[in-house]
Amino acid sequence: MALKYSRQRQVIKDFLMTRKDHPTADVVYMNVKREYPNISLGTVYRNLSLLANLGEIQRLQVGDGIDHFDADTSRHYHVVCTKCGSVTDLAMDSTPYDELTNTVNADFEGIIEGHVTYFYGICGNCHKKL
Ligand SMILES: [Zn+2]
Ligand SMILES: [Zn+2]
Repeated sequence: MALKYSRQRQVIKDFLMTRKDHPTADVVYMNVKREYPNISLGTVYRNLSLLANLGEIQRLQVGDGIDHFDADTSRHYHVVCTKCGSVTDLAMDSTPYDELTNTVNADFEGIIEGHVTYFYGICGNCHKKL
């Protein structure tokens, strides 16, 4: 059964909303395919890109050369594991975010509107195995 474009997009977004681990397009594809075997990786990737451009999801470029996607569009920081590459949400209120933006703004001629910061370290799972 062929899915309508809008339905495809919703299915992809619905799946992403069930995940907290910031999956790549490949992971989204492998999971959505179980229910919709006719969907292609290209379709999944295009829809993820479109959703990110619309601001309905976040695209994360953490330095591993692969886009990760996040259905949580609220302002939050991420930590990237240098051992396994996992991307985890950091619980943090907005104070440090605003403070850093304001500090940088104070010495900048133009207007700083925001920033993207990734923390790097060793995740809880990898830490347990050390
Ligand atoms: Zn790890
Ligand atoms: Zn996140």
